[in-house]
Amino acid sequence: MRTYFRNIERTLKTILVGMRITLQYCFARTVTVQYPDVPPTLQPRFRGFHWYEIEKCSACKACMRACPVDCIYIENAGVRKIDRATGISRGGAMVRYAIDYSKCMFCGLCCEPCPTECLHMGNIHDLSGYDRSVAIVEFAELAKQGLRTPVPLWMQKARLPGWAQARKEAWIEASQGRHEEMRLATTDQPIPKPAAAAPAAPAEGAKPPPGN
Ligand code: SF4
Ligand code: SF4
Repeated sequence: MRTYFRNIERTLKTILVGMRITLQYCFARTVTVQYPDVPPTLQPRFRGFHWYEIEKCSACKACMRACPVDCIYIENAGVRKIDRATGISRGGAMVRYAIDYSKCMFCGLCCEPCPTECLHMGNIHDLSGYDRSVAIVEFAELAKQGLRTPVPLWMQKARLPGWAQARKEAWIEASQGRHEEMRLATTDQPIPKPAAAAPAAPAEGAKPPPGN
């Protein structure tokens, strides 16, 4: 009989100890971010998935050589030269510009040597997918769709949280008016003739959207 009542006492004690911890957390400051309903806070120099301006790329492969893990793949159909008057590269088609994000460590070393400043670390922080193939991003293919950065699967839904919709619109806005140039970069174009002492004009839309 004594054991019976001792067991009841122990059970009640255990429940009270558990409930005390639960109650403490009920009134504690919330630290969990309800992502994706609430945006994560990105620091100003956050390095996310790349933002690539294909129409300014001269296919010099300096980024590829700088990459410590060899995860950038570039194929071009011929020599490309920058047109100093417009800041746009012309010549052999950019057949492929791909980055394997299963290897990339987001060090940003590829952006440093880029002579045309067309490769930037972007503000995409998540690229989840159903298989490993999505980890290899084909930027030349994205350029044909007017995109400079990969769009995560969940961000392709029709209904998005406000912050995600705003970010998506900022990407589209940042490449507005350049879609034709982006598409032309994936085709063979005549190499521009050297301009007579014209200073290199910074191309419009050259900066990634805010948050990059
Ligand atoms: S961020 Fe670093 S690892 Fe990733 S592609 Fe650039 S150089 Fe390579
Ligand atoms: S360094 Fe810049 S211009 Fe050269 S291939 Fe890479 S992205 Fe293109």
